[in-house]
Amino acid sequence: MAYSYQAPVSQTLFDRASLVTPGGVNSPVRAFRAVGGTPRFMVSGSGPYLTDADGREYVDLVCSWGPMILGHSHPEVIAAVQEAVARGTSFGTPGEGEVALAEEIVARVEPVEQVRLVSSGTEATMSAIRLARGFTGRAKVVKFAGCYHGHVDALLAAAGSGVATFGLPDTPGVTGAQAGDTIVLPYNDLDAVRAAFAAHPGEIACVITEASPGNMGVVPPLDGFNAGLKEICAAGGALYISDEVMTGFRTSKAGWYGVDGVRPDLMTFGKVMGGGFPAAAFGGRADVMAHLAPSGPVYQAGTLSGNPIATAAGLAQLRLLDDAAYAKVDAVSAEIRGLVGDALTKEGVAHTVQAASNMFSVFFTDRPVRNYEDAKQQEAFRFTAFFHSLLSQGVYLPPSAFESWFVSTAHDTQAVERIAAALPAAARAASEATA
Ligand code: PLP
Repeated sequence: MAYSYQAPVSQTLFDRASLVTPGGVNSPVRAFRAVGGTPRFMVSGSGPYLTDADGREYVDLVCSWGPMILGHSHPEVIAAVQEAVARGTSFGTPGEGEVALAEEIVARVEPVEQVRLVSSGTEATMSAIRLARGFTGRAKVVKFAGCYHGHVDALLAAAGSGVATFGLPDTPGVTGAQAGDTIVLPYNDLDAVRAAFAAHPGEIACVITEASPGNMGVVPPLDGFNAGLKEICAAGGALYISDEVMTGFRTSKAGWYGVDGVRPDLMTFGKVMGGGFPAAAFGGRADVMAHLAPSGPVYQAGTLSGNPIATAAGLAQLRLLDDAAYAKVDAVSAEIRGLVGDALTKEGVAHTVQAASNMFSVFFTDRPVRNYEDAKQQEAFRFTAFFHSLLSQGVYLPPSAFESWFVSTAHDTQAVERIAAALPAAARAASEATA
């Protein structure tokens, strides 16, 4: 495919990066492998905009894959970081910032009675699973195809995000022993969950699910699905783990729990709670969390856990996220969804826009997408054409048809107008695309 313009400085940086870093990127989803072309190296971000190394500005619909819900360089978050960094960068001791962040999480998300801070969503899910196994004394873990919970060995089976983007069946390096206790089921299928519990009585430690999946594109749980999971877990003596790394503090003040009210035993968080810094967490029932070291025997630790800069950024961001902020993000998300749908309809492109609060994505199929198999049926080649047209016009989408799009409180009328102006040509490109 020919791209409408080049990005010479990004290309030079990418060439340098490729010599010293596998694939030239530090996380596979940043590469443009699925869509082709040169990944843009960004040099700055302000509000809803990113500027690349070639000096081009983009309306950002990735928002660092979710965290930047207030937009880039929010002055109050930056000020909190500057104040924290001036006091030192890491002490390896407890500090007040981490207590305040934990208190904020506990105050917002009612099922979280105790919380432990870590540095990435991967650590959060890995630790939650270890805790569930330690607490129940059982080995097996149920996950759903197309859900991504970070690059935890046991959870990479049929995973979403980059694993879905690149169509990887399984990951070499994960041994049979590491994945052998993982049961992968189709999403939104309670019968499959019941059958797994019936086949493995007394063996399943936990069911882990994205609270509302965004890593195969946005595929919300069907009515009653999460409640059904909770019920089956409770009846089968297993823990229900809701992974809110993506939805936490984004889809509402209390994340997806604030939307569906289904009470998990354990929850995981990341992204928004770090304000753009590496901070994540897992938490939940106090009697379960009490099994964690040093209170209990299940070991978990981290040199930089609760880092003072990350906690200051996260706390500043969370404190700004009041009802008005969520109303604003929800409204701008709805507006952009409408514009995208209208543009594609006008060009006769089969599509389905799916949303979970303000998270959304576009599937190039006219059928509703309820699970990973459905998601894979879309005409992803149309996304490639759509993506490059928007990129060339200064709109930055996730470089994959299997990812959520993200907006922020900073996406104002001007940013929306720029997207609106770019959509007709992008929809035309999608309609003219061939496999
Ligand atoms: N869980 C979910 C639902 C995610 O979306 C992600 C990352 O995208 C993770 C876990 C892993 O988080 P991290 O990339 O911070 O390790």
